[in-house]
Amino acid sequence: MEEKMMQVSNDHPRRSQKRRGQRFPWGDILMTLMVAVLCVYVFLSFGEKTPDEETPVRGTSAPTTTQAQDNALADLLAENTQPTASDIDWNLVLVNYENAIPENYEINLVEVAGGEKVDERIYDPLMEMLEAAKEENWDQLPMVVSGYRTQAKQQKLFQDKVAKYQSEGHSKSEAEELAKQWVAVPGYSEHQVGLAVDINGATYDLYFWLQENSWKYGFIFRYPGSKTEITGVAEEVWHYRYVGVEAATEMYEKGLCLEEYLAERQGEE
Ligand SMILES: [Zn+2]
Repeated sequence: MEEKMMQVSNDHPRRSQKRRGQRFPWGDILMTLMVAVLCVYVFLSFGEKTPDEETPVRGTSAPTTTQAQDNALADLLAENTQPTASDIDWNLVLVNYENAIPENYEINLVEVAGGEKVDERIYDPLMEMLEAAKEENWDQLPMVVSGYRTQAKQQKLFQDKVAKYQSEGHSKSEAEELAKQWVAVPGYSEHQVGLAVDINGATYDLYFWLQENSWKYGFIFRYPGSKTEITGVAEEVWHYRYVGVEAATEMYEKGLCLEEYLAERQGEE
């Protein structure tokens, strides 16, 4: 499995940007910063624990906790090196027809097999999920056919969809309404934050497998047909969104979409 992953990486080199640490040539300064960050992190870890916090029921709680802690640490590191700190967890950022991508959203991209790009923080879980999905996909690695999109790219996709409906005889406003069911208005697509991927399979079985297993890797079936009224998007079996294992597990177990999950979380605070 490891070998195959390497093979994929060689075919399509992973162009990871330099890690943040390498921007600091002064080892002492970096070390001091790290110690400070760790202190803040430890402090926040204790401060954040609430007794009524739900404990997800599952067998893999240990790695999940580690990942959650890694994420928290990554957030803190990001907040300490970037002036545009955000108070939302990066993996839970809500982008839908009502919520535009946050202003000054910063993103480090990495290329995946096939040439599409995603937020570098979701690369590993994404590749693990796609590798695991091979057994339900005639032993082929499912392809990411759409990852990160620029504003211009989203604009073009939307305009093309509107034009298609207009060519079928719909008025411009009708065409726009219809297009919105399938393509997010530019500025309102999850693809623009690099946390969503459209996955192509060799067989439809892949999508059934993803619906039952993606949560283990931190991904959610973002637009099930049963949630269209909430998400505003018609069912898209190919579109997966990274939210982290903890959130994905809870959403899978409770049958919640991201909007519902976030509303519930807000209610608990
Ligand atoms: Zn998509």
